[in-house]
Amino acid sequence: MLSEIRKLVCCPDDGAEVIVKNNYLECTSCHRDFPMFANNMVEMLPSAFPQWNLLKDENNKAEESYKNMAILENLCIRNNIKT
Ligand SMILES: [Zn+2]
Repeated sequence: MLSEIRKLVCCPDDGAEVIVKNNYLECTSCHRDFPMFANNMVEMLPSAFPQWNLLKDENNKAEESYKNMAILENLCIRNNIKT
């Protein structure tokens, strides 16, 4: 599955190609890891929250969701939890 996904995506931070590692994708340029959370879901959010031209309230909700996902990702990685 990861080898198929990798052909369709690139690193959200620098646009470089990603390669398949054990159970995640890795950027060939910045070496950032993108964990696989399910059989068909890989988290590939940019490192920095994008500056969108959304309404103030919309942007806040999106940023809060993004930060919660980043916290969850870090907890899973730290505790070696495979989801
Ligand atoms: Zn990268």
